[in-house]
Amino acid sequence: MKIAFFDTKPYDVPAFERYAKEYGVTFKYFETKLNADTAELAKGADGVCAFVNDTVDAAVIDRLEQMGVKLLALRCAGFNNVDMKHAFGRIHVLRVPAYSPYAVAEHAMALLLTSIRRIHKAYIRTKDFNFSLSGLTGFDLHGKTVGVIGTGRIGRVFIDICRGFGMRVLAYDKFPSRELESDLLRYVSLEELFAQSDIISLHCPLTDDTRHIIDGRALSSCKKGVVIINTSRGALVDAEALLAGIKSRQVGAACLDVYEEEADLFFEDNSGHIMEDDTLARLISMPNVIVTSHQAFLTEEALANIAETTVKNISDFLNNGQCPNELCYRCGNTEDCKVGKCF
Ligand code: NAD
Repeated sequence: MKIAFFDTKPYDVPAFERYAKEYGVTFKYFETKLNADTAELAKGADGVCAFVNDTVDAAVIDRLEQMGVKLLALRCAGFNNVDMKHAFGRIHVLRVPAYSPYAVAEHAMALLLTSIRRIHKAYIRTKDFNFSLSGLTGFDLHGKTVGVIGTGRIGRVFIDICRGFGMRVLAYDKFPSRELESDLLRYVSLEELFAQSDIISLHCPLTDDTRHIIDGRALSSCKKGVVIINTSRGALVDAEALLAGIKSRQVGAACLDVYEEEADLFFEDNSGHIMEDDTLARLISMPNVIVTSHQAFLTEEALANIAETTVKNISDFLNNGQCPNELCYRCGNTEDCKVGKCF
């Protein structure tokens, strides 16, 4: 079984090679991202393995199909970079639905604590033997209200962590899980969540419904000084509106692991280049904005789980013609479809 592996990073190879032999899968690693110009590299492969910033649009899907590539194995949970409608009936799409919700939820909390306790500033000061505390005053999380948008795997772990800090939790989900409700968690409308939360953390997928769920209007309906955390997908937040909110002091701080225009920037060393993206440059220049480059998933446990599940998905599909982690455009991946019947 030959798989063309796109957007390879040094940390991917050991994790994937560990499982490849066991499952009889051979990877050919390419550093380049998958897009219409690079799809050709998959010639002769049974499938392709792609990540969050690979482009799997109609043109790429058509080219892969023409070359006889039957399988797209995503080594991530989100699939907003795949034209699922066009993929249906042309190429089977597999993903890793969960690999470590703890990795992402813990990173969200790490960003929040870093930001509100000014750890990023303190670290640089003490490195320079500057032991002054001026300007480092933070605030307690205990007793604050956190609004969590999306109460799936990651959202729930984040909620547990917030409860550990003694925070009040408000939640919004298109499909609420009523069993989560308690004295410490209440599902509310988005409007109420915006109006009451001191901190808002995004844990929903990027869809047509959620694109720019945090926009200028949403921010102006929030409490003054609201802290926004986005470890989900960049386009959930209108970055221009966020920047305007930071400048007007309506937004107290922003913690961003993802950015709408991250595809050509994140995961790469751009330190020797002129930053062309003025919005990102301005956001990064703000003392109350912390940006990490889509790092939330990056733990040893998550990498091992991603590699094992991806390799197992490929092996299941190519050996048995079916895989429980196949995505289906037609039925939305119901239990029935998990064997790929719809396709
Ligand atoms: P999940 O599917 O378990 O949970 C998503 C939740 O969002 C579900 O409860 C769903 O009902 C809800 N939802 C769907 N549409 C919604 C809407 N319109 N409004 C509000 N809620 C809605 O997914 P998960 O594993 O918790 O992952 C959440 C997101 O985190 C992923 O979609 C992905 O974009 C992101 N993610 C980021 C990283 C990273 O490294 N930064 C890593 C993994 C996942």
